[in-house]
Amino acid sequence: MTFIIAIDGPAAAGKGTLSRLLAEYYGFHHLDTGLTYRATAKALLDAGLPLDDEAVAERTALKVELGGLDRRVLSRHEIGEAASKIAVMPSVRRALVEAQRRFSLKAPGTVLDGRDIGTVVCPQAPVKLYVTASAEVRAKRRHDEIVAGGGNADYAAVFADVKTRDDRDMGRADSPLKPADDAHLLDTSEMSIEAAFQAAKTIVDAAMNKE
Ligand code: C5P
Repeated sequence: MTFIIAIDGPAAAGKGTLSRLLAEYYGFHHLDTGLTYRATAKALLDAGLPLDDEAVAERTALKVELGGLDRRVLSRHEIGEAASKIAVMPSVRRALVEAQRRFSLKAPGTVLDGRDIGTVVCPQAPVKLYVTASAEVRAKRRHDEIVAGGGNADYAAVFADVKTRDDRDMGRADSPLKPADDAHLLDTSEMSIEAAFQAAKTIVDAAMNKE
């Protein structure tokens, strides 16, 4: 049976890096589900299509190929903004969740990260982690990342952006961001990525021994 690790949390909490490290360590396939929403948004933006027409967005979501997703191509701020707008649409979510569920069954195991993996996409996952950090810490990490990449960033603007994204993700009616009842909470505000990885590994190893 495929072993699934479900990882959820708000933007810039460190779940992407943690998911990659876990997938590498266990030899599992990894899907960053945020990229499926971003790819849908980018296709709409590139084609000059509206972001508020659910039928058009659904048709676009149905065409997203999970194989070709690349965060470097999809990382732009406007794409993230557009992604969180179309992510409120139930039929867009249905189309992408269907593809994500198919991916989650790949042997020998998978790591999926996003906002609704433990609650909606893979509620049966034997390990669920909810990775979080304070909004201040997440904004600082995002800010430093942009600056390190040679970009210009204003901390106050990045902070405001993190809050807007949180409100939209936590406040939507369909699949809002929240920890599953049986998720392990991992607050990385004062943790290095190595410490977060060790904490997650202890939880995953314990669940594997129980299977
Ligand atoms: O994680 P990332 O910032 O790439 O995700 C972009 C947007 O896609 C999020 O703000 C969220 O609105 C949406 N998303 C979602 N469900 C997921 C993953 C991402 O609604 N499982």
